[in-house]
Amino acid sequence: MKECIFCKIVKGEIPSASLIENETVMSFLDINPVNHGHALVIPKKHVETLIEAEQAVLENCILTARQVAEAILGATGAEGFNILQNNGRCSGQVVPHLHFHVIPRWSDDGFSLGWRQGRYEDNELDSLLEDIKQRL
Ligand code: 5GP
Ligand code: ZN
Repeated sequence: MKECIFCKIVKGEIPSASLIENETVMSFLDINPVNHGHALVIPKKHVETLIEAEQAVLENCILTARQVAEAILGATGAEGFNILQNNGRCSGQVVPHLHFHVIPRWSDDGFSLGWRQGRYEDNELDSLLEDIKQRL
């Protein structure tokens, strides 16, 4: 896609701190890291979200994310890591080219996902459960 910033990185039109690449995916450091070592893994072929990606591409992405995560843990001494992946503007996706965040974490790093814990009323769970299951 012409104006996509990550497509430009894939083509080398914009520089990146590249970590690893193969025929299908590449990984580079995020320019505005949550923590130092925060990396992105992207498919080289433009797709916007997880839904449009082919199975082989997704397999390649997640295996590369694991490989990169291990290397980042080794290099930074991080205690753990998050794999985050946003789909759609409402979810926080700013760059509309599929990407997986690999974020090294420390228990005292001050970063919080602000996880909310909601609840279901009465029959809400049952009807939603059936609706989702019928679409699988
Ligand atoms: P999103 O919010 O779409 O899930 O995350 C997009 C990520 O891409 C952000 O963390 C942002 O810092 C990163 N990013 C945006 N533009 C560039 C760029 O030109 N180079 C690199 N390396 N990262 C970028
Ligand atoms: Zn793109």
